[in-house]
Amino acid sequence: MTSPCSVLIVGAGPVGLTAALCLSRAGVPVRIVDAGDDVDRRMRASTFHPPTLDMLAELELAEPLIDLGLRVPRWQLRQHETKQHLVFDLAAIAADTRHPYRLQVEQHRYCDLAVEALARSGVTVEFGKAVSGVEQTSDRTTAALDSGGESIEAQWVIGADGAASPVRKSLGLKYGGMTHTHSSVLVSTTFPFHEALEDLSDVSYCWSRRGPYSLLRLRQLWRVSLYPGTEDLAVAAEEDRVRDWLNYIHPEAGHAELLDVHPYRVHERCVDQFRVGRVFLAGDAAHLNPPSGGMGMNGGIHDAVNLTGKLIEVMAGASDSLLDRYQRQRHQIVSGRIIPQASANRARMAVKDPKRQLARLDEHRQIAADGERCREFLLKSSMISGLREAEAIE
Ligand SMILES: Cc1cc2nc3c(=O)[nH]c(=O)nc-3n(C[C@H](O)[C@H](O)[C@H](O)COP(=O)(O)OP(=O)(O)OC[C@H]3O[C@@H](n4cnc5c(N)ncnc54)[C@H](O)[C@@H]3O)c2cc1C
Repeated sequence: MTSPCSVLIVGAGPVGLTAALCLSRAGVPVRIVDAGDDVDRRMRASTFHPPTLDMLAELELAEPLIDLGLRVPRWQLRQHETKQHLVFDLAAIAADTRHPYRLQVEQHRYCDLAVEALARSGVTVEFGKAVSGVEQTSDRTTAALDSGGESIEAQWVIGADGAASPVRKSLGLKYGGMTHTHSSVLVSTTFPFHEALEDLSDVSYCWSRRGPYSLLRLRQLWRVSLYPGTEDLAVAAEEDRVRDWLNYIHPEAGHAELLDVHPYRVHERCVDQFRVGRVFLAGDAAHLNPPSGGMGMNGGIHDAVNLTGKLIEVMAGASDSLLDRYQRQRHQIVSGRIIPQASANRARMAVKDPKRQLARLDEHRQIAADGERCREFLLKSSMISGLREAEAIE
């Protein structure tokens, strides 16, 4: 057993790292452990929404991240065969955020910046330490590590240990919701879609007769999400199948270098309790949503900022009941806003009939052309309205 710290953070993904930074900048002694050997550098989230960038600016991380990414002020909905499209311009919410654009950059680049920032404030991420479970009394918590019988004592624990969260399991919480049976495939390629497809935006959500797909541009590559309609993950990721679909998007795309092909399942899940006594859950440990609209990691970072703000106040003498507001605010926004919206985004793109696809395009064209409706739509899709709604929850 080592000497107690104030807050133990389990998991050094984007959510745990953000929590650690918020706390250490406020002078709270933290430890952060991760089961992996290093930052997870697989391709996962790649969109940072405007309010997340506003939060990262407070941590002095927005600028270095923006330097590594691609600013995308306009995104589009597109019908593949007819090339009809409409563009949403985030200039409509310029008065609502300091960053009226999506930043496209790999989540691991954010994690690397956060690890470096933590090191500068004297906190070393302790990789190679897996927590197997957490116990608590009225005044402290004890987290058991997998190896060597070691344990860590802390006043508070934040479980940011991802979808399989051993912290959540040790609390006995049910991860309610559902998993879609159809698989999705995330493909990274060097093919220059911006040069090959006319009037394409750097973020484009596309209907096609073959099925929906999205194209997201990063500095050095394009990220393509395909929804192949098969239930078998291995089949969905077969190289011939992936290349064939890329060829459907553009006849030369299927011959380009594939940097990564990652099949995965889409979940819609949320725990009922984000807090059990002295232990909190945040990010994927607490909720999962479809990737359409890029809200998973962003919502997790919003959890971390919300929770740590309250922990800092409680450690400075505020009533510990303040921490229940974290549960009320984030549970309401995740289950009432983020999951339904990500699910609606997914359903919108799942429309198969080409006539209905064009009708949906037309509906959204009308929204984009109407100043106030367009602003409202973008406040929602950029996750600003949800955060404002949360502020009103006592
Ligand atoms: C293929 C794919 C595509 C995605 N695309 C998007 C997207 O476009 N936009 C978006 O917003 N989100 C996307 N997501 C979701 C996004 O990646 C997650 O929401 C985000 O990573 C959640 O961050 P986290 O810190 O909560 O969890 P994670 O990033 O999963 O980090 C959890 C950390 O906990 C560590 N850990 C696990 N168990 C233990 C243990 N027992 N002890 C200690 N440490 C432990 C892990 O090693 C890991 O480092 C995608 C996810 C996937 C899989």
